[in-house]
Amino acid sequence: MSRFRKFFNILSKEQQKLIDDGCSVLKALATKKASSCIEHDREREKINNSTCPLCNSNKIVNKISNVEGKGNVSGSLYCGSGSIYGSSKINTSEVNHCSTCGNQWKKYSRKYISSDDILAGWFNDINAVYEGIYSYGDKTVELLKDIPAESLLVEFENVENDCYYSTQNNITLKFLKTKFKSVWDK
Ligand SMILES: [Zn+2]
Repeated sequence: MSRFRKFFNILSKEQQKLIDDGCSVLKALATKKASSCIEHDREREKINNSTCPLCNSNKIVNKISNVEGKGNVSGSLYCGSGSIYGSSKINTSEVNHCSTCGNQWKKYSRKYISSDDILAGWFNDINAVYEGIYSYGDKTVELLKDIPAESLLVEFENVENDCYYSTQNNITLKFLKTKFKSVWDK
């Protein structure tokens, strides 16, 4: 039985509506954040691939590097929060080459950021608050302060597998209620 049913099977219609509304607001916030991260990533790609980090020249051409063999690396994106990860694959044999100074560097690899990636990142932030290690989680709690704990739990279950193991273990309704309001609050 999911945690959702275990905790919520005796809700009034009003409480159910509060939870549903909270889920809608949360998903809208995550979608908005994903768009701004994608925009931020696009800017970084533009700068990385069009300006030489050594001499600031804009005379950049694409090259295939001399490194033997091919491979993929994956990357993460820091985007105004502690722990939001998208996924990306880049062909490491392609590089940018500066025609002015001869510098060569890796092409920037765009990330694929979904609203679920954002939500998972937020729950990892909330877990950081649980663990008391990183202060950046406080910003996320502040951002989500109007969302009921029960809505957060519903959405957490949807993205749980994308979260850190520690987050999966630590996020409970009981903990969420210590940081967020509950639909049971009078
Ligand atoms: Zn250069």
